[in-house]
Amino acid sequence: MKIFGLIGYPLSHSFSKKYFTQKFAKENIKDCSYELFPIEEIDQLPELISNIRELRGLNVTIPYKEKVIDFLDELEEGAKAVAAVNTIRIADQKLTGYNTDVFGFEKSLRGFVEKSRRGFPEKALILGTGGAAKAVHYVLEKLGIKSLMVSRSIDKGQLNYTDLDALIIKENQLIINTTPLGMSPDIQSFPSLPYREIGRDHLLFDLVYNPGKTVFLEKGEDQGAAIQNGLDMLYGQAEKAWEIWNQ
Ligand code: NAP
Repeated sequence: MKIFGLIGYPLSHSFSKKYFTQKFAKENIKDCSYELFPIEEIDQLPELISNIRELRGLNVTIPYKEKVIDFLDELEEGAKAVAAVNTIRIADQKLTGYNTDVFGFEKSLRGFVEKSRRGFPEKALILGTGGAAKAVHYVLEKLGIKSLMVSRSIDKGQLNYTDLDALIIKENQLIINTTPLGMSPDIQSFPSLPYREIGRDHLLFDLVYNPGKTVFLEKGEDQGAAIQNGLDMLYGQAEKAWEIWNQ
């Protein structure tokens, strides 16, 4: 038996448990299970790993994505750059940390740009400055897309929402929402942008996946922009974790 699972606290609903449990059933994977490990403190991790000998891999969620790094033997390049881990591979008593949001976002963005037939944008705006924003920034840099982070605070990003005028919107043809605005149940909220400046050459990517079409995406679509939600990225990051655990 191989055991996989999720650490975080508290763990109420979990996309990963549902995803992997359904995957094991659908693909007739018989010797694997996916469990929830709601540990109250991250220093309970070594005990968890030594108690469950069959543990082969873990996903990591709030509040341990950064704190878990001190407990790992190695960090993959993307996780190191973003300074956050959402996947751990356990092999030969060695723990390696990965950030599969990086892989999920890159794969989804490539597919989106291709499908949109607009070509790769040169410049982008990243709305928000949290963990997901850092993963997005790392991918954009890797792809040679210059990006600026937009924050509510003057000291966090390079821009404030009040700085976003017609010129900035025109110059940045890719706009990525990494804030939770628009996410269920708060589905009426959206980032504060001059939406009328968005046009047919724009690409709007929302990391939010529930609902499938947020107000942010709806407003962009009304202006003729190509749109993409975060569902494809979510599946992409989960599949990458599976690939890492089975290397
Ligand atoms: P986070 O670390 O909490 O960061 C969210 C950022 O959004 C904050 O740093 C903040 O930036 C901004 N923000 C928060 N509340 C806001 C508000 N009311 N108005 C405007 N800006 C606000 O969260 P995260 O882990 O980066 O995740 C962000 C979102 O991405 C979540 O909705 C999450 O579900 C989604 N996500 C999706 C995927 C996927 O696979 N599709 C993967 C990862 C995350 P400032 O304080 O600088 O304004």
